[in-house]
Amino acid sequence: MGRRNGCIRASRPGVILDRMRRTDRDSPARRSAAMTPSENRLIDSFGRVHNNLRISVTDRCNIRCVYCMPETVEFLPRASLLSYEEIARFVRVAAGLGIDKIRLTGGEPLVRKDLPKLVETIAAIDGIRDVGLTTNGILLAPMAKALWDAGLRRINVSLDTMDPAKFLELTRRTGFEQVIEGILAAKAAGFDPVKINAVAIKGVTEDDVVPLARFSREHGLELRFIEYMPLDAGNAWERGKVLFAAEILEILSSRIGPLAPDPKHDPRAPAMEYDFLDGVGRVGMIASVSRPFCMSCNRVRLTADGKLRNCLFALDETDVRSLIRSGATDEAIASALRESVAGKWEGHEINTARFIKPERLMHSIGG
Ligand code: SAM
Ligand code: SF4
Repeated sequence: MGRRNGCIRASRPGVILDRMRRTDRDSPARRSAAMTPSENRLIDSFGRVHNNLRISVTDRCNIRCVYCMPETVEFLPRASLLSYEEIARFVRVAAGLGIDKIRLTGGEPLVRKDLPKLVETIAAIDGIRDVGLTTNGILLAPMAKALWDAGLRRINVSLDTMDPAKFLELTRRTGFEQVIEGILAAKAAGFDPVKINAVAIKGVTEDDVVPLARFSREHGLELRFIEYMPLDAGNAWERGKVLFAAEILEILSSRIGPLAPDPKHDPRAPAMEYDFLDGVGRVGMIASVSRPFCMSCNRVRLTADGKLRNCLFALDETDVRSLIRSGATDEAIASALRESVAGKWEGHEINTARFIKPERLMHSIGG
């Protein structure tokens, strides 16, 4: 089993038992995985049950967010992307191992042709109970209804600012109005809630916190702030540039009104949820840096070129595409997935000197 600068990533029996005690056996992941025979479940050496697969359908994007992509970038050749048939085959195998929740992402997933077809195929796979999408929203307005009709039920739209000039600065492209139209079209198509993802960068996005919250409260959207993570193209990330969840809460409570943690909140969920005490709206904090949630992580990721990653920050990958294209059996693909999960490390080490930034950038991993 691999090590990251001395950090043991996998099996140590004493640790396993200890971790299993800490992982709630009644979590939705466990309940769902309980339908899968135990020898088949995706359980890592820390007792974490994996039921959540994030699939990147492309590394391409129609904008260039400064914290994610370089201005000029060489995209993967089309032939190296998994086809929809290949993705669906992998999802069928994964569903047999207890994966029941899928999120499509990218790059920008809506730039890939006929995405609703993929949604429809995945939503119809036995065992899949939830299909979600994370998008920048630019192409969403004309596609929202087709996505809903295809079976998509969860949608997150990324938007960091309500100021069109700042949008241009952060994304290096125009498109603010299309994003707003996309959000409203998603609501009209039936998505409820529509979640808004905003990256939180110190010295950059403080002024956007309140306008985003006001817009979200006005339109019944669920706003989630994501602490800036070291997956940026320019290697500009430093811990001191992260606008922490606690600071955002302070801004919101002093400028809009008090918030209280959601009493029904699942402490294992990545986002900490807060409700405005006036009853209008809620805000989520994905505090990947100030409050890592690795010990409750239930996710694996498939990149657009068919590489399986057991962590956003993983330094190695499993080549699923080669397996699929060389005629591997479902059992061989399942074994590769089991092995990848079994080898998952305890957690990212962003807050330590041991942290090593993965070579892949966010847009080519699939956030
Ligand atoms: N293009 C789609 C979008 O922007 O929603 C999906 C892919 S994008 C990589 C997924 C999410 O990752 C977005 O919400 C984006 O804001 C977030 N993201 C990208 N780079 C990030 C970084 N360095 N730190 C934190 N979040 C980041
Ligand atoms: Fe594109 Fe999403 Fe990355 Fe922005 S965050 S550059 S929209 S992939």
